[in-house]
Amino acid sequence: MPSKLLIAAADAAFGARKASTFGIEATPSVDGRAVLARVRKQRDRFVAETLKSIEKLPAGICVKQRARFSDATTLALEDGRKVSAKAIVIATGSRPSVPKEFEKLGDIVLTNETIFELRPLPRSIAVVGAGPLGLELAQAMARLGVETVMFDQGDRIAALRDAEVARSLRMVLGKEFPIHLGVKLEVEKNGDGARLSWSGASSGTASFERVLVAAGRPPTLDDLNLAAAGLETSDKGIPKFDPSTLQCGDAPIFLAGDADAQRPVLHEASSEGAIAGQNAASFPKVRKAKRAVPLSIMFTDPPLAVVGATPSDAMVVGSASYDDQGRARVRRETKGWSGFMPARTLA
Ligand SMILES: Cc1cc2nc3c(=O)[nH]c(=O)nc-3n(C[C@H](O)[C@H](O)[C@H](O)COP(=O)(O)OP(=O)(O)OC[C@H]3O[C@@H](n4cnc5c(N)ncnc54)[C@H](O)[C@@H]3O)c2cc1C
Repeated sequence: MPSKLLIAAADAAFGARKASTFGIEATPSVDGRAVLARVRKQRDRFVAETLKSIEKLPAGICVKQRARFSDATTLALEDGRKVSAKAIVIATGSRPSVPKEFEKLGDIVLTNETIFELRPLPRSIAVVGAGPLGLELAQAMARLGVETVMFDQGDRIAALRDAEVARSLRMVLGKEFPIHLGVKLEVEKNGDGARLSWSGASSGTASFERVLVAAGRPPTLDDLNLAAAGLETSDKGIPKFDPSTLQCGDAPIFLAGDADAQRPVLHEASSEGAIAGQNAASFPKVRKAKRAVPLSIMFTDPPLAVVGATPSDAMVVGSASYDDQGRARVRRETKGWSGFMPARTLA
Protein backbone atom coordinates (compact mmCIF):
# COMPACT_ATOMS: atom_id res chain seq x y z
CA MET A 1 0.00 0.00 0.00
CA PRO A 2 2.72 2.61 0.79
CA SER A 3 4.19 2.12 -2.70
CA LYS A 4 0.77 2.92 -4.19
CA LEU A 5 0.57 6.06 -2.04
CA LEU A 6 3.96 7.17 -3.36
CA ILE A 7 2.84 6.41 -6.92
CA ALA A 8 -0.29 8.53 -6.37
CA ALA A 9 1.91 11.51 -5.41
CA ALA A 10 4.20 10.90 -8.40
CA ASP A 11 1.18 10.73 -10.72
CA ALA A 12 0.00 14.11 -9.40
CA ALA A 13 3.39 15.68 -10.19
CA PHE A 14 3.49 14.04 -13.61
CA GLY A 15 -0.10 15.09 -14.39
CA ALA A 16 0.71 18.70 -13.53
CA ARG A 17 3.80 18.59 -15.79
CA LYS A 18 1.87 17.31 -18.79
CA ALA A 19 -1.18 19.54 -18.21
CA SER A 20 0.06 22.16 -20.68
CA THR A 21 -0.65 19.65 -23.49
CA PHE A 22 -4.32 20.25 -22.77
CA GLY A 23 -4.00 24.02 -22.49
CA ILE A 24 -3.72 24.04 -18.71
CA GLU A 25 -0.71 25.71 -17.17
CA ALA A 26 0.65 24.28 -13.90
CA THR A 27 4.19 24.22 -12.55
CA PRO A 28 4.54 21.54 -9.86
CA SER A 29 6.91 21.94 -6.96
CA VAL A 30 7.46 18.69 -5.05
CA ASP A 31 7.69 18.95 -1.24
CA GLY A 32 9.38 15.61 -0.52
CA ARG A 33 8.80 15.82 3.23
CA ALA A 34 5.08 16.43 2.72
CA VAL A 35 4.85 13.62 0.15
CA LEU A 36 6.44 11.09 2.50
CA ALA A 37 4.52 12.34 5.54
CA ARG A 38 1.24 11.67 3.70
CA VAL A 39 2.45 8.23 2.59
CA ARG A 40 3.23 7.28 6.21
CA LYS A 41 0.03 8.78 7.62
CA GLN A 42 -2.23 6.96 5.13
CA ARG A 43 -0.22 3.72 5.45
CA ASP A 44 -0.59 3.83 9.23
CA ARG A 45 -4.34 4.37 8.84
CA PHE A 46 -4.66 1.29 6.60
CA VAL A 47 -2.58 -0.77 9.04
CA ALA A 48 -4.68 0.41 12.02
CA GLU A 49 -7.89 -0.60 10.20
CA THR A 50 -6.50 -4.09 9.51
CA LEU A 51 -5.32 -4.45 13.11
CA LYS A 52 -8.77 -3.41 14.34
CA SER A 53 -10.35 -6.29 12.40
CA ILE A 54 -7.88 -8.69 14.06
CA GLU A 55 -8.75 -7.28 17.51
CA LYS A 56 -12.36 -8.34 16.85
CA LEU A 57 -11.38 -12.02 16.99
CA PRO A 58 -12.75 -13.72 20.13
CA ALA A 59 -10.37 -13.84 23.11
CA GLY A 60 -7.85 -16.68 22.89
CA ILE A 61 -8.15 -17.04 19.09
CA CYS A 62 -5.42 -14.54 18.29
CA VAL A 63 -2.07 -15.06 20.04
CA LYS A 64 0.49 -12.35 19.26
CA GLN A 65 3.78 -14.22 19.51
CA ARG A 66 6.49 -15.41 17.13
CA ALA A 67 6.11 -19.14 16.62
CA ARG A 68 8.37 -22.00 15.53
CA PHE A 69 7.76 -25.70 15.17
CA SER A 70 8.45 -28.17 18.02
CA ASP A 71 6.94 -31.00 15.98
CA ALA A 72 4.42 -31.33 13.14
CA THR A 73 1.45 -30.35 15.33
CA THR A 74 3.08 -28.21 18.02
CA LEU A 75 4.34 -24.62 17.93
CA ALA A 76 6.72 -23.16 20.49
CA LEU A 77 5.94 -19.50 21.19
CA GLU A 78 8.62 -16.97 22.08
CA ASP A 79 7.15 -16.51 25.60
CA GLY A 80 7.78 -20.22 26.31
CA ARG A 81 4.20 -21.44 25.83
CA LYS A 82 3.36 -24.29 23.47
CA VAL A 83 0.32 -24.52 21.20
CA SER A 84 -0.87 -27.82 19.76
CA ALA A 85 -3.24 -28.14 16.84
CA LYS A 86 -4.75 -30.81 14.60
CA ALA A 87 -3.26 -28.95 11.62
CA ILE A 88 -1.10 -25.87 11.06
CA VAL A 89 -1.04 -23.28 8.26
CA ILE A 90 2.27 -21.58 7.50
CA ALA A 91 1.51 -18.07 6.17
CA THR A 92 4.61 -16.20 7.27
CA GLY A 93 4.98 -14.11 4.12
CA SER A 94 8.23 -12.86 2.65
CA ARG A 95 10.84 -10.22 3.41
CA PRO A 96 13.24 -8.25 1.20
CA SER A 97 16.56 -9.87 0.45
CA VAL A 98 19.70 -7.71 0.52
CA PRO A 99 22.65 -9.39 -1.23
CA LYS A 100 25.84 -9.52 0.86
CA GLU A 101 27.81 -7.01 -1.22
CA PHE A 102 25.36 -4.24 -0.25
CA GLU A 103 25.68 -4.82 3.49
CA LYS A 104 28.82 -2.66 3.69
CA LEU A 105 26.75 0.35 2.61
CA GLY A 106 24.88 0.32 5.95
CA ASP A 107 21.86 2.64 6.07
CA ILE A 108 22.56 4.06 2.60
CA VAL A 109 20.74 0.92 1.48
CA LEU A 110 16.96 1.03 1.44
CA THR A 111 14.45 -1.77 0.90
CA ASN A 112 10.75 -1.63 0.15
CA GLU A 113 10.25 -1.71 3.94
CA THR A 114 12.53 1.24 4.82
CA ILE A 115 12.18 3.60 1.86
CA PHE A 116 8.98 5.13 3.21
CA GLU A 117 10.75 6.18 6.41
CA LEU A 118 12.90 8.70 4.52
CA ARG A 119 12.34 12.28 5.65
CA PRO A 120 13.36 14.41 2.69
CA LEU A 121 13.48 12.61 -0.62
CA PRO A 122 17.07 11.82 -1.65
CA ARG A 123 18.63 13.83 -4.48
CA SER A 124 19.61 10.63 -6.27
CA ILE A 125 18.86 6.92 -5.98
CA ALA A 126 20.12 3.74 -7.62
CA VAL A 127 17.46 1.05 -7.85
CA VAL A 128 18.85 -2.46 -7.95
CA GLY A 129 16.36 -4.96 -9.38
CA ALA A 130 14.08 -4.43 -12.39
CA GLY A 131 11.16 -6.42 -10.98
CA PRO A 132 7.68 -4.97 -10.42
CA LEU A 133 8.46 -3.40 -7.02
CA GLY A 134 11.72 -1.85 -8.24
CA LEU A 135 10.08 -0.48 -11.38
CA GLU A 136 7.08 1.00 -9.55
CA LEU A 137 9.29 2.72 -7.00
CA ALA A 138 11.89 3.86 -9.56
CA GLN A 139 9.27 5.53 -11.74
CA ALA A 140 7.65 7.17 -8.71
CA MET A 141 11.02 8.51 -7.51
CA ALA A 142 11.90 9.81 -10.98
CA ARG A 143 8.55 11.58 -11.28
CA LEU A 144 9.07 13.18 -7.88
CA GLY A 145 12.28 14.72 -9.15
CA VAL A 146 14.81 12.24 -7.73
CA GLU A 147 17.66 11.43 -10.13
CA THR A 148 17.01 7.70 -10.60
CA VAL A 149 19.01 4.96 -12.34
CA MET A 150 18.01 1.27 -12.45
CA PHE A 151 20.28 -1.80 -12.65
CA ASP A 152 19.60 -5.51 -13.06
CA GLN A 153 21.91 -8.45 -13.64
CA GLY A 154 19.27 -10.18 -15.77
CA ASP A 155 18.29 -9.10 -19.25
CA ARG A 156 14.52 -9.19 -18.77
CA ILE A 157 12.51 -6.32 -17.40
CA ALA A 158 9.76 -7.26 -14.89
CA ALA A 159 10.66 -10.93 -15.55
CA LEU A 160 8.57 -10.68 -18.75
CA ARG A 161 8.53 -13.63 -21.13
CA ASP A 162 6.99 -11.70 -24.02
CA ALA A 163 9.92 -10.09 -25.84
CA GLU A 164 7.84 -7.41 -27.60
CA VAL A 165 6.08 -6.27 -24.45
CA ALA A 166 9.42 -6.27 -22.60
CA ARG A 167 11.08 -4.20 -25.33
CA SER A 168 8.21 -1.71 -25.37
CA LEU A 169 8.08 -1.41 -21.57
CA ARG A 170 11.83 -0.86 -21.35
CA MET A 171 11.68 1.79 -24.04
CA VAL A 172 8.77 3.67 -22.43
CA LEU A 173 10.09 3.56 -18.85
CA GLY A 174 13.66 4.14 -20.04
CA LYS A 175 12.61 7.63 -21.23
CA GLU A 176 11.97 8.56 -17.59
CA PHE A 177 15.05 6.96 -15.97
CA PRO A 178 18.03 5.00 -17.36
CA ILE A 179 17.63 1.20 -17.14
CA HIS A 180 20.81 -0.90 -17.30
CA LEU A 181 20.00 -4.58 -17.80
CA GLY A 182 22.53 -7.42 -17.98
CA VAL A 183 25.07 -5.69 -15.77
CA LYS A 184 27.26 -6.75 -12.88
CA LEU A 185 27.63 -4.22 -10.08
CA GLU A 186 30.46 -3.27 -7.78
CA VAL A 187 29.55 -1.06 -4.87
CA GLU A 188 31.53 1.02 -2.40
CA LYS A 189 30.82 3.69 0.16
CA ASN A 190 31.51 7.19 -1.08
CA GLY A 191 31.19 9.87 1.61
CA ASP A 192 27.55 9.95 2.67
CA GLY A 193 26.46 7.93 -0.34
CA ALA A 194 27.57 5.06 -2.54
CA ARG A 195 29.54 4.68 -5.74
CA LEU A 196 28.30 2.02 -8.16
CA SER A 197 30.37 0.70 -11.06
CA TRP A 198 28.67 -1.49 -13.60
CA SER A 199 29.88 -3.62 -16.47
CA GLY A 200 28.39 -6.06 -18.94
CA ALA A 201 25.77 -4.98 -21.49
CA SER A 202 26.73 -1.39 -20.57
CA SER A 203 29.36 0.06 -18.28
CA GLY A 204 29.95 3.14 -16.17
CA THR A 205 30.38 4.57 -12.69
CA ALA A 206 28.08 6.91 -10.79
CA SER A 207 27.47 8.08 -7.23
CA PHE A 208 24.12 8.04 -5.48
CA GLU A 209 22.80 9.33 -2.18
CA ARG A 210 20.78 6.15 -1.63
CA VAL A 211 20.56 2.63 -3.05
CA LEU A 212 17.19 0.88 -3.12
CA VAL A 213 17.71 -2.86 -3.23
CA ALA A 214 14.64 -4.49 -4.77
CA ALA A 215 16.24 -7.85 -5.46
CA GLY A 216 13.36 -10.11 -4.51
CA ARG A 217 11.40 -11.14 -1.44
CA PRO A 218 12.19 -14.72 -0.43
CA PRO A 219 9.78 -16.54 1.92
CA THR A 220 10.19 -15.99 5.66
CA LEU A 221 10.76 -19.61 6.64
CA ASP A 222 14.26 -19.64 8.09
CA ASP A 223 13.31 -19.12 11.74
CA LEU A 224 10.40 -21.61 11.78
CA ASN A 225 12.52 -24.66 12.62
CA LEU A 226 10.94 -26.59 9.72
CA ALA A 227 13.27 -29.54 10.44
CA ALA A 228 11.28 -30.25 13.63
CA ALA A 229 8.11 -30.52 11.54
CA GLY A 230 9.74 -33.27 9.44
CA LEU A 231 8.88 -31.59 6.12
CA GLU A 232 10.66 -32.36 2.88
CA THR A 233 11.98 -29.10 1.42
CA SER A 234 13.19 -27.91 -2.00
CA ASP A 235 16.80 -26.78 -2.53
CA LYS A 236 15.57 -23.26 -1.64
CA GLY A 237 14.33 -24.50 1.74
CA ILE A 238 10.64 -24.27 0.80
CA PRO A 239 8.49 -27.22 1.94
CA LYS A 240 7.28 -29.34 -0.99
CA PHE A 241 3.52 -28.92 -1.30
CA ASP A 242 0.56 -29.67 -3.58
CA PRO A 243 -0.59 -26.37 -5.22
CA SER A 244 -4.21 -27.56 -5.41
CA THR A 245 -4.53 -28.44 -1.69
CA LEU A 246 -1.53 -26.48 -0.32
CA GLN A 247 -0.74 -29.51 1.87
CA CYS A 248 2.95 -30.20 2.54
CA GLY A 249 3.46 -33.87 1.64
CA ASP A 250 1.05 -35.85 3.83
CA ALA A 251 1.75 -33.77 6.92
CA PRO A 252 -1.00 -31.86 8.77
CA ILE A 253 0.71 -28.70 7.55
CA PHE A 254 -0.40 -26.27 4.82
CA LEU A 255 1.52 -23.48 3.11
CA ALA A 256 -0.16 -20.27 1.90
CA GLY A 257 0.63 -16.82 0.53
CA ASP A 258 4.08 -15.38 -0.15
CA ALA A 259 5.57 -18.11 2.07
CA ASP A 260 5.17 -20.67 -0.75
CA ALA A 261 6.88 -18.36 -3.32
CA GLN A 262 4.42 -19.31 -6.06
CA ARG A 263 2.24 -16.27 -6.74
CA PRO A 264 3.41 -13.44 -4.48
CA VAL A 265 0.44 -11.10 -4.89
CA LEU A 266 -2.23 -10.11 -2.41
CA HIS A 267 -5.31 -11.66 -4.04
CA GLU A 268 -3.49 -15.00 -4.36
CA ALA A 269 -2.34 -14.86 -0.74
CA SER A 270 -5.93 -14.25 0.28
CA SER A 271 -7.27 -17.08 -1.89
CA GLU A 272 -4.55 -19.47 -0.70
CA GLY A 273 -5.31 -18.51 2.89
CA ALA A 274 -8.90 -19.65 2.33
CA ILE A 275 -7.86 -22.94 0.67
CA ALA A 276 -5.24 -23.75 3.32
CA GLY A 277 -7.54 -22.69 6.16
CA GLN A 278 -10.44 -24.84 4.96
CA ASN A 279 -8.22 -27.87 4.44
CA ALA A 280 -6.53 -27.41 7.81
CA ALA A 281 -9.95 -27.15 9.51
CA SER A 282 -11.29 -30.29 7.82
CA PHE A 283 -8.02 -32.25 8.09
CA PRO A 284 -7.54 -35.19 7.44
CA LYS A 285 -10.26 -34.59 4.81
CA VAL A 286 -8.40 -32.49 2.23
CA ARG A 287 -10.03 -31.10 -0.93
CA LYS A 288 -8.35 -30.02 -4.17
CA ALA A 289 -9.31 -26.43 -5.03
CA LYS A 290 -9.72 -24.97 -8.50
CA ARG A 291 -7.09 -22.25 -8.73
CA ALA A 292 -7.81 -18.85 -10.30
CA VAL A 293 -6.27 -17.78 -13.60
CA PRO A 294 -2.89 -16.22 -12.77
CA LEU A 295 -3.10 -12.42 -12.78
CA SER A 296 -0.60 -9.81 -11.73
CA ILE A 297 -0.55 -6.08 -12.27
CA MET A 298 2.35 -3.69 -11.99
CA PHE A 299 1.26 -0.13 -11.27
CA THR A 300 3.73 1.73 -13.46
CA ASP A 301 2.58 4.15 -16.16
CA PRO A 302 1.72 2.50 -18.46
CA PRO A 303 0.68 -0.32 -16.15
CA LEU A 304 1.62 -3.89 -16.94
CA ALA A 305 -0.88 -6.73 -16.56
CA VAL A 306 0.10 -10.36 -16.99
CA VAL A 307 -2.84 -12.73 -17.31
CA GLY A 308 -2.97 -16.47 -17.87
CA ALA A 309 -0.49 -19.10 -18.90
CA THR A 310 3.10 -18.38 -19.89
CA PRO A 311 3.87 -18.37 -23.64
CA SER A 312 4.63 -21.56 -25.51
CA ASP A 313 5.58 -22.26 -29.13
CA ALA A 314 2.19 -23.90 -29.66
CA MET A 315 0.29 -20.64 -29.31
CA VAL A 316 -0.93 -18.12 -31.83
CA VAL A 317 0.25 -14.72 -30.67
CA GLY A 318 -1.36 -11.39 -31.43
CA SER A 319 -0.25 -7.90 -30.51
CA ALA A 320 -1.31 -4.28 -30.73
CA SER A 321 0.60 -1.07 -30.20
CA TYR A 322 -0.83 1.98 -28.44
CA ASP A 323 1.33 4.31 -30.56
CA ASP A 324 -1.58 5.42 -32.73
CA GLN A 325 -4.59 4.29 -30.74
CA GLY A 326 -7.47 6.81 -30.70
CA ARG A 327 -8.24 6.96 -27.00
CA ALA A 328 -4.54 6.92 -26.12
CA ARG A 329 -4.05 9.96 -28.39
CA VAL A 330 -6.94 11.79 -26.71
CA ARG A 331 -5.23 11.35 -23.33
CA ARG A 332 -1.67 11.77 -24.69
CA GLU A 333 -0.85 8.29 -23.54
CA THR A 334 0.42 6.87 -26.83
CA LYS A 335 2.82 4.40 -25.28
CA GLY A 336 2.62 0.71 -24.63
CA TRP A 337 1.97 -2.60 -26.20
CA SER A 338 -0.53 -5.43 -25.80
CA GLY A 339 1.12 -8.67 -26.58
CA PHE A 340 0.87 -12.39 -26.33
CA MET A 341 -2.83 -12.88 -26.81
CA PRO A 342 -3.14 -16.66 -27.09
CA ALA A 343 -6.28 -16.53 -29.21
CA ARG A 344 -6.06 -20.23 -29.83
CA THR A 345 -3.61 -23.04 -29.38
CA LEU A 346 -2.25 -24.73 -32.52
CA ALA A 347 -3.24 -28.36 -32.81
C1 LIG B 1 6.08 -2.76 -1.54
C2 LIG B 1 5.08 -3.85 -1.90
C3 LIG B 1 4.08 -3.59 -2.82
C4 LIG B 1 3.16 -4.59 -3.16
N1 LIG B 1 2.17 -4.29 -4.05
C5 LIG B 1 1.26 -5.23 -4.36
C6 LIG B 1 0.20 -4.95 -5.26
O1 LIG B 1 0.11 -3.86 -5.81
N2 LIG B 1 -0.70 -5.91 -5.54
C7 LIG B 1 -0.62 -7.15 -4.97
O2 LIG B 1 -1.48 -8.00 -5.24
N3 LIG B 1 0.39 -7.47 -4.13
C8 LIG B 1 1.32 -6.55 -3.81
N4 LIG B 1 2.33 -6.85 -2.95
C9 LIG B 1 2.43 -8.24 -2.44
C10 LIG B 1 1.49 -8.49 -1.27
O3 LIG B 1 1.69 -7.48 -0.29
C11 LIG B 1 1.81 -9.88 -0.70
O4 LIG B 1 1.61 -10.83 -1.71
C12 LIG B 1 0.91 -10.23 0.48
O5 LIG B 1 1.01 -9.28 1.52
C13 LIG B 1 1.31 -11.61 1.04
O6 LIG B 1 0.48 -11.89 2.14
P1 LIG B 1 0.93 -12.99 3.20
O7 LIG B 1 -0.18 -13.08 4.19
O8 LIG B 1 1.38 -14.22 2.51
O9 LIG B 1 2.24 -12.41 3.92
P2 LIG B 1 2.43 -11.10 4.79
O10 LIG B 1 1.46 -10.04 4.45
O11 LIG B 1 3.90 -10.78 4.67
O12 LIG B 1 2.12 -11.57 6.29
C14 LIG B 1 2.93 -12.52 6.95
C15 LIG B 1 2.80 -12.29 8.46
O13 LIG B 1 3.42 -13.39 9.14
C16 LIG B 1 4.13 -12.88 10.27
N5 LIG B 1 5.18 -13.84 10.65
C17 LIG B 1 6.31 -14.18 9.96
N6 LIG B 1 7.00 -15.10 10.63
C18 LIG B 1 6.32 -15.38 11.76
C19 LIG B 1 6.54 -16.25 12.87
N7 LIG B 1 7.60 -17.04 12.97
N8 LIG B 1 5.61 -16.26 13.89
C20 LIG B 1 4.51 -15.48 13.81
N9 LIG B 1 4.25 -14.64 12.78
C21 LIG B 1 5.15 -14.58 11.79
C22 LIG B 1 4.68 -11.55 9.75
O14 LIG B 1 5.02 -10.71 10.84
C23 LIG B 1 3.50 -11.03 8.94
O15 LIG B 1 2.61 -10.30 9.75
C24 LIG B 1 3.26 -5.89 -2.58
C25 LIG B 1 4.29 -6.16 -1.66
C26 LIG B 1 5.19 -5.16 -1.32
C27 LIG B 1 6.30 -5.48 -0.35
